[in-house]
Amino acid sequence: MFSMTGAPLAAKKLLLAKCSRSIGASYFTSKSLHTNSENVVDFVISGGGMVGAAMACSLGNAPALKGKKIVLLEGAAEKESFTLTEKYSNRVCALSPATVDLLTDLGSWQEICNMRYQPVKRMQVWDSCSDSLITFSQADMTEDLAYIVENDVILASITARLNALGDRVDVRYRTQAKAVSLPTPVEDVASTESPFVRVHLENGETLQTRLLIGADGSNSLVRRSADCHTISWDYYQSAVVATLGISQMENNVAWQRFLPTGPIALLPLSNEFSSLVWSTTTEDAKNLLQLPDESFVDAVNDAYWHDRDKDSIAISLGQTFQGILNAAIPGGTSNRQLPPTVTDVVEGSRAMFPLSMVHSSEYVKPRIALIGDAAHRLHPLAGQGVNLGFGDVVCLTQVLVDAVQRGSDVGGLSHLLQYETQRQRHNLPVLLTIDGLQRLYGTKFSPFVIARSLGLQATNALDFVKNKIIQQAAV
Ligand SMILES: Cc1cc2nc3c(=O)[nH]c(=O)nc-3n(C[C@H](O)[C@H](O)[C@H](O)COP(=O)(O)OP(=O)(O)OC[C@H]3O[C@@H](n4cnc5c(N)ncnc54)[C@H](O)[C@@H]3O)c2cc1C
Repeated sequence: MFSMTGAPLAAKKLLLAKCSRSIGASYFTSKSLHTNSENVVDFVISGGGMVGAAMACSLGNAPALKGKKIVLLEGAAEKESFTLTEKYSNRVCALSPATVDLLTDLGSWQEICNMRYQPVKRMQVWDSCSDSLITFSQADMTEDLAYIVENDVILASITARLNALGDRVDVRYRTQAKAVSLPTPVEDVASTESPFVRVHLENGETLQTRLLIGADGSNSLVRRSADCHTISWDYYQSAVVATLGISQMENNVAWQRFLPTGPIALLPLSNEFSSLVWSTTTEDAKNLLQLPDESFVDAVNDAYWHDRDKDSIAISLGQTFQGILNAAIPGGTSNRQLPPTVTDVVEGSRAMFPLSMVHSSEYVKPRIALIGDAAHRLHPLAGQGVNLGFGDVVCLTQVLVDAVQRGSDVGGLSHLLQYETQRQRHNLPVLLTIDGLQRLYGTKFSPFVIARSLGLQATNALDFVKNKIIQQAAV
């Protein structure tokens, strides 16, 4: 792994750094399938976070994979029967409609509906340097853009479905993978080696598997053990999260203001509460955590309302451009709405998380596949991280089902490469766009402010472009 700071170079590396991999038939001959295979598990998923647990559930649900042995390893302890408390958790995700489709197929969206979620019907994003803005809403406000759900609720809903699968999935909590031994090509297999992947556990046990799925987060042991080429860089930012009391009659709008130090977002939880994700310099984040409650609330309101960053040239050019847009596209621009006033912060709800970008140029190796944050970690400004991970789950399940229906070995590199290609085609543009936005908005340099402000105004005026963006974010 290496780190870089230059975005263009990084983007190039992101796209080009593919190591050549042969299909390597010698891992997958019929001999390999019969070598010491009685105790071989078909799938081991390392990491039972939201994405790994969904993967286990998805494999366990697939009729074509009936009879396949599936093990899910999770280092943390099992949460004793989840009970929803009145107090909201400070960790939430904005789930896309495509994620809701997956969770519905798994039966866990129904569990979430029995707990709680808040639909987002409108989003307003604006620039503190020029006040140029973009809004997204489904035309008639009957369809939802996204759903805000607490991470604990998402995981509990998937765990409930895993439990309902009974012994289809062997879920092992407090079980940490300690090391991974890669498969040995069949012709080289000596008595002590294996054509399968071996997962060595903290408790001394070793599992042999046809396919190891790494869902073990951004510092993935599976990714490091498989020596997957990875690029990463630090944003030198942290996200401050908190649960905030708000004054709003109907709370179904997500509000994001881009400040030069990073975006601040308010996501609706209920008519009384919203969830804060405020990305800022790590030093600022530390200060925000130390502030007394009242000063913290003042700081959040100030971040939404202050005029300190305004660039007069960008504003006057923006006003002229807006006049031209209004004449050219009557009714094409959306009205600005005012964000709610934050009234208080829920005690003990403040926390901070360091932000970085991590992307594995290789999502697969012989008998290994990476999903979720183990393959890609991104800035939370567009709320896409776990949605990309759930997209990986859908794609990998389909590829594995197809492989089994063709009678192929589930760890075969040829179909794993189909998974990698399909997901990288989807994930890379999202990663690059989010990284680009983070950099474009992280400056007060006038030419950049003018360019991005006029671009945002033009995009906001063109409904078909906005619809395209909504469609892209929904999948
Ligand atoms: C502030 C913030 C806001 C965010 N908001 C959004 C949002 O609105 N929408 C969105 O889509 N995404 C959002 N994200 C991103 C999202 O939280 C992540 O993408 C998601 O949590 C990744 O899930 P995961 O299951 O891949 O990894 P993780 O959540 O990191 O889970 C990994 C799991 O693997 C286990 N594990 C690790 N190593 C081992 C091992 N060796 N053996 C066994 N188990 C192991 C860990 O215990 C853990 O349970 C946000 C992120 C942040 C920081």
